[in-house]
Amino acid sequence: MKKSYDAAIYALPHIQDLHAYVPGEQPQGEGWTKLNTNENPYPPSPKLAAVLSEEMDKLRLYPEPRSMELRTAIGERYGLSAANVIIGNGSDNLLDLITRCFVSDPGAGHTVPSYSLYPVVCGMSGQQLIDLPFDRSMQLNVEALAATDAKVFFLTNPNAPTGVAFSISEIEAALQAIDGLLVVDEAYVDFGGETAIPLLRDYENLIVVRTFSKSYSLAGMRVGYALAGEGIVGMLDRVRDAYNVDRIAQAVALAAFVDVDYFETQRQKVIATREATRAQLDALGWFTYDSAANFLFTEPISAAGSSGGEVARSLFNFLKERRVLVRYFPNHPLTCAFIRVSIGTDAQMQVLIEGIQSWLKNA
Ligand code: PMP
Repeated sequence: MKKSYDAAIYALPHIQDLHAYVPGEQPQGEGWTKLNTNENPYPPSPKLAAVLSEEMDKLRLYPEPRSMELRTAIGERYGLSAANVIIGNGSDNLLDLITRCFVSDPGAGHTVPSYSLYPVVCGMSGQQLIDLPFDRSMQLNVEALAATDAKVFFLTNPNAPTGVAFSISEIEAALQAIDGLLVVDEAYVDFGGETAIPLLRDYENLIVVRTFSKSYSLAGMRVGYALAGEGIVGMLDRVRDAYNVDRIAQAVALAAFVDVDYFETQRQKVIATREATRAQLDALGWFTYDSAANFLFTEPISAAGSSGGEVARSLFNFLKERRVLVRYFPNHPLTCAFIRVSIGTDAQMQVLIEGIQSWLKNA
């Protein structure tokens, strides 16, 4: 006998309504200049190879469930204890745990634009998301943030997709003004932002979330961490999958974290390439936001001197046809006239600039 089951009817109502996260395209085949998902163009620390092979031999054993060695090392680096640190399967995992623990009516807040996973984690928990709209300056209005009354406010700093960084004094003002939790998502902070970590000492309503995906070149490994007061970390641990970070990921992230010299060199290379690329975009007369991240958000101007959604789309498509992949956000008036370009190697950025020059000649 066969039985039918209509998932579209029986799924919980908020899951029926959920729009899943749409990750940036991971193109198949060779020859792409991939500047669309803010990955690091450089390989991770060469010291990881030995760690990988050591862990291979231990794969029949479960990992240490709490990632304790990594918590301790991260805590020590920032003058905190292991009890202030939680490790996630990517920082996305932590954003979900935070939402599950702390978001209730009237919901979570985020700036528009910012990272498009926040609506998804909220939706997964059946919670509302409150928009804090930006204007073209992309600056933060702390009073408006506080007025959202969000139980949890997600603030990406530096912001995405703009790269614009908020100052530590603005973040402190927000912490003072709000009643709920402020989650400062520092995915890109190592490329030039100012960290909110020192504020953890005085503000129990702060969670700082970070990732190994960008500045440590470990996007494929899925490791992130959050720093907060012990009480918050304890709650997040309650909802964490028992073995949320696998054995290889724990060991590799720790090895990358302690290889400070390699980290520093790669980070500086990305920053230098960003500034050089920025200068080339400036030379074209294009408006580009000041970026403290590993990407640039720039407003293309066509050969005819016009800008706007159609111009940005035309450049995006032109580049894509030539296997140069950047990101285009057509769905919002503040973003649709721009493209976001992740910082690659100098050679990759040269390919981008050449692509732009031929678009200017041909489009
Ligand atoms: N926060 C922001 C602002 C991001 O852009 C990203 C990466 N897309 C993440 C968090 C998630 O990073 P992870 O790879 O650690 O899940």
